[in-house]
Amino acid sequence: MAKRTELTVCASCGETVPITLKTPNHALHVVLSILTMGLWLVVYLAAILDSAMNNRFSRKRCPKCNGRL
Ligand SMILES: [Zn+2]
Repeated sequence: MAKRTELTVCASCGETVPITLKTPNHALHVVLSILTMGLWLVVYLAAILDSAMNNRFSRKRCPKCNGRL
């Protein structure tokens, strides 16, 4: 899993703070999907769903006020 940083506004303090999101390594998954003639697409889809669920439902905290984002 790769990581990507985005800016978001904290609901508690109103500050713009960076958050780290997990994303699949798309280039790697595309290459593996080609090499396995599409069989790897199942794993790729699972990785996409896993990162989406993780990013959506994990309890992220503001680094400045520790409030919930
Ligand atoms: Zn905050």
